[in-house]
Amino acid sequence: MIKVSQLKKSYGSFEAVKGISFDVQEGEIFGLLGPNGAGKSTTLEIMETLRLKSSGEVNIAGFDLDKQPDEIKKIIGVQLQTSGFYPGLKLLELIDLFGGLYNRKVDPMELLSKVNLEEKAKSLYKSLSGGQKQRFSIATTLINDPKIIFLDEPTTGLDPQARRNLWDLIKNIRALGTTVIITTHYMDEAEYLCDRVAIMDAGRIISLDHPDRLIDQLIASGFEKKKESKGANLEDVFIQMTGRVLRED
Ligand code: ADP
Ligand code: MG
Repeated sequence: MIKVSQLKKSYGSFEAVKGISFDVQEGEIFGLLGPNGAGKSTTLEIMETLRLKSSGEVNIAGFDLDKQPDEIKKIIGVQLQTSGFYPGLKLLELIDLFGGLYNRKVDPMELLSKVNLEEKAKSLYKSLSGGQKQRFSIATTLINDPKIIFLDEPTTGLDPQARRNLWDLIKNIRALGTTVIITTHYMDEAEYLCDRVAIMDAGRIISLDHPDRLIDQLIASGFEKKKESKGANLEDVFIQMTGRVLRED
């Protein structure tokens, strides 16, 4: 579905992406991991046609990024930073606005139901909780019925319940056949969601495989972690005590 070869991106004399290559299969949830500044967002935005590359080749669903960027735009869903929404508009109005941008007729209630926000249709964007804002921004990626969606740190700043809720949502979107490219700083999330992950550091991919295989390789190399003496952790306590039910206020 995606083929990236020798992709490079420089900002002035600084090379942020230093010649990375990877493929993403159709229907995969593919994770881009790495510390801040690794080049994840730059890589994503180049694939999204929002940023120019310096060199290398990118092919998305058979379309060449250099020759057919407009074809690529039609089949991808891009998540805007949540600050990109007009805070004083209702969700229905925002969907109308986006539908117009994509030149698509959308059923707003059907779209909102995909992200469990039907009852918020007439609420103002600014009145939503953090989790609801993230769910809404994911809904807007689905407006043009895309083959691929790109999510850049969709769960950063969410509480544990909202994070789990978003995991379910992302799995559901994939189950309907959409390929998902996601970045995250949460390794539990990457392990749970991603079929494969690429670990980036300082503009390079330093590892790429199934999460399970990466863990097995580390163990096979002789790595040993101090055994956790307890069968649960503080997040388990938190979820056990406060429940899995979403809190939205
Ligand atoms: P990540 O998403 O992995 O945190 P980014 O792709 O945002 O990394 O950034 C990679 C590097 O490129 C960082 O060092 C960042 O400061 C730099 N960078 C990103 N965008 C710009 C820009 N528009 N101009 C100059 N440098 C940038
Ligand atoms: Mg980033």
